[in-house]
Amino acid sequence: MISRTQPKKIIEELLKEVNFGCPFPECGSPFLTIHHFDPKWSEKQHHDPDGMIALCPEHHNMADIGIYTKEQLRYFKKNPYIQDKIKVKWPWDPEKIVFRMGGSILFGTRPALTLESNKILEVKKKFIPSLNRAIFSFDMNILDKKGKFMAKMVDNYLSVPIHNLKLLRFSTKGHAFKVEHEDGSYLNLKFKRNSLEEFRKLLKCNFEDNLVFGIIEIAKKISMDSDNKIPIVTILGHFSNPNIDIHILENKINFICYFYNNEEVNLPPKVFLPSGSLRITLGKKDILKFG
Ligand SMILES: [Zn+2]
Repeated sequence: MISRTQPKKIIEELLKEVNFGCPFPECGSPFLTIHHFDPKWSEKQHHDPDGMIALCPEHHNMADIGIYTKEQLRYFKKNPYIQDKIKVKWPWDPEKIVFRMGGSILFGTRPALTLESNKILEVKKKFIPSLNRAIFSFDMNILDKKGKFMAKMVDNYLSVPIHNLKLLRFSTKGHAFKVEHEDGSYLNLKFKRNSLEEFRKLLKCNFEDNLVFGIIEIAKKISMDSDNKIPIVTILGHFSNPNIDIHILENKINFICYFYNNEEVNLPPKVFLPSGSLRITLGKKDILKFG
């Protein structure tokens, strides 16, 4: 019995084949699923990339009910709609926000991570008169190792040139996003609205019991949405420039300071209140800033 879950390598190959966007003419959506068409999964269980194609859920449904021929699907594989860049409106619109980065907890809207005055990820709250409500607006500016533009998001509009891109992936359900350059730089974001119990479990990986209690009290006051959930954006990533190489892992942040004898620093989890931040400076210049 072959698993329905496709091997990661094959998924990545199929995403790259369509330039990370649905290949159906004038679609280009980066929310992609994998469709088996030659043979169909119901006829034979297989993971042969020749008979598989990445399509958005809408065009996947169309393919499932037999709207397209095998020849048309093969044509889509060879002639993707996306030719230069992926453009998409960001799907997350949380009522409140908590960042989790290397196990650290950052409350509230803020620039979450700044590398030498370049804000890699920032979230602002903006009032939209036509909606008569505020929305969270995500901004992103990701550079590759040479300092060249890799991905940019302004007011929730993401634009990523596909040139030199190793991977761009939104999970099928849209709660995770990863963009990776061929040079190994990447940003991986995950979004989940946690119950208090789930939040407590997460905190227990990194903090002592008395601190966990305090963090939950703060979260209840300032970060609970109208369903009593705590919306958390987890940040993972790897970024570098001539001064620093930073690796944000699930429970810690590692970085190498090239400007200081290649010293390796291991940053343990901390709690940042809405006005708090941590700076690593060289002279008067900020090299790295959290929050
Ligand atoms: Zn589509």
